[in-house]
Amino acid sequence: MTATASFDVLVIGSGASGLAAAVSAGNAGGRVGLATKASIQACNSAKAQGGIQASFGEDDSPEQHAADVWKSSHESADMRLVEVLTGDAQGAIHWLEELGVAFTRENGGYRLARCGGASAKRLLQVGDRTGHAITKALREAFEAGDGTLFANSPLQALEPTPNGWHARCGEHELDAGTVVLAAGGRCFKVAEERGELSTNHPNATGEVTRLALELGAEARDLDELQYHPNGGAWPETMQGYSIPETTRAYGAVLLNADGEEFTDSLGPRDVVSQAIFDEVAKGKGVETEDGRPAVYLDTTRIAQDDAEISLPYMLRRYRGAGIDPLEERILTYPVLHYQNGGLVIDTDAETTVEGLYACGEIAGGTHGRNRMMGNSLLECCVFGRRAGRAAAEKASA
Ligand SMILES: Cc1cc2nc3c(=O)[nH]c(=O)nc-3n(C[C@H](O)[C@H](O)[C@H](O)COP(=O)(O)OP(=O)(O)OC[C@H]3O[C@@H](n4cnc5c(N)ncnc54)[C@H](O)[C@@H]3O)c2cc1C
Repeated sequence: MTATASFDVLVIGSGASGLAAAVSAGNAGGRVGLATKASIQACNSAKAQGGIQASFGEDDSPEQHAADVWKSSHESADMRLVEVLTGDAQGAIHWLEELGVAFTRENGGYRLARCGGASAKRLLQVGDRTGHAITKALREAFEAGDGTLFANSPLQALEPTPNGWHARCGEHELDAGTVVLAAGGRCFKVAEERGELSTNHPNATGEVTRLALELGAEARDLDELQYHPNGGAWPETMQGYSIPETTRAYGAVLLNADGEEFTDSLGPRDVVSQAIFDEVAKGKGVETEDGRPAVYLDTTRIAQDDAEISLPYMLRRYRGAGIDPLEERILTYPVLHYQNGGLVIDTDAETTVEGLYACGEIAGGTHGRNRMMGNSLLECCVFGRRAGRAAAEKASA
């Protein structure tokens, strides 16, 4: 056991939300500790490919973005949080740019794609490695500051003290005025239990949510897990890979065994996933070589230029596995992807337990019961920033 260390703000998790919170708490003058389960790089955020939403289009606005979230959530999102999400979006993008993220540009502006459920082109991208670019910039900003990293230090116990919190993180005993929980969702663990495929990193196991619930924090929509409509189904090495939804934004369509379109390929995630499940149940799906259900994603309809600018990583992965998506259709089926619900938070990301904050996938309400693609990275940055700042201010009050 090492000696107890003491901080103003202790952040748990080093995905985009935890890194944003740690950087923001440091900028607000807080002494920051960052404890994470494995290496600082290990998280879901870095795997995100598609992009991040923000209403920069001329035919778009934060209000229109908010209306799309409300509709996609089947009117179940917390509109106070949604207004913060969409209202802070442009500022979050500019903050990321100041930290070194270079979003793909064209014609003097951002290259924007339309994502499922969106009424305008709103998705900013860094090629198809957007999450990698965002986490790298945030990590470098954290490492350039005064924060202390505790890698390989999973949160195992958390309890209130007269001055804040005491946490056991691996071998470390840590005290802090406030705590920001940013430990992500639980889809890897649930997929394992169900014997299903998941897009998630093995650290997405959900025990931090359980600790918060034991401390009395309220949660919402925790039962609602999201399937990514387009998991890779074949070849074997691509099983569980999340085929970026930007494939569909740039023209790919879903086809059944007879080569017919059976759904709006740019519908909300839950609708598209359900349409695939239904088509397979009707006997109109196809089978992979190892007997798994699938439908076709006709990626041959994507223009070469669009693919080279916005899908280079996806192309490399498939070509490396022996399939060229611009020459032949690929096989896809929904895979477990995202925890829609989570801990209840206010607009500063404080949970219902005072001094305990939550941001990113571990928090609920912003997406209601069905998240739109591209809004999770945004949520991480918008609410991570708010959580870090508010947690530092409360700790010093
Ligand atoms: C393959 C893939 C593609 C995606 N594409 C997109 C996209 O294009 N656009 C978009 O907006 N969203 C996308 N998402 C969703 C989005 O990336 C994630 O929901 C989001 O990044 C989650 O960020 P987070 O910081 O909340 O959690 P994570 O990034 O999952 O980070 C959680 C962190 O907590 C740590 N941790 C876990 N348990 C503990 C513990 N007990 N103690 C300490 N630390 C712990 C983990 O090691 C990790 O560092 C994608 C997700 C995946 C998996």
